[in-house]
Amino acid sequence: MAAAHKLTCLECGAVNRVPEDKLGAGPKCGTCGTRLNDHKVREMDANVLAKAAKNDSLPLLVDFWAPWCGPCRQMAPEFAKAAQALGAGARLAKINTEDHPKVSAKNNIRGIPTMILYQNGREIARQSGAVPASAIEGFVRQKAKVAG
Ligand SMILES: [Zn+2]
Repeated sequence: MAAAHKLTCLECGAVNRVPEDKLGAGPKCGTCGTRLNDHKVREMDANVLAKAAKNDSLPLLVDFWAPWCGPCRQMAPEFAKAAQALGAGARLAKINTEDHPKVSAKNNIRGIPTMILYQNGREIARQSGAVPASAIEGFVRQKAKVAG
């Protein structure tokens, strides 16, 4: 039997279990029906972030950004490309630190953009500054256990 991964739905926050061999089959949230990984960057809120950071076994890379931050806006298309490249093996999400000001203090964010990589219920790595898609993908593959 294949190992199961825990994935928090980035839309409603429900924790789903997905067998590793089904990760690529477009699994959906059992609660709200949203696709758990459509290889796109999903905007998350502070509650979902807290849940996903604590529960997810699939690598989750979160971009802490804000609309007024030029480098953040420059990196957004690169972040989206990296999400496509990593496919079902990891998930990429972003959180707007202007809409959710408490997450910056809680996560000790000193400057944006900052990316934090979570796996198995904890932070495993972080990196600050805007970087190209290849570097974002490389960061995840090097630091986390990407599925598949
Ligand atoms: Zn859901």
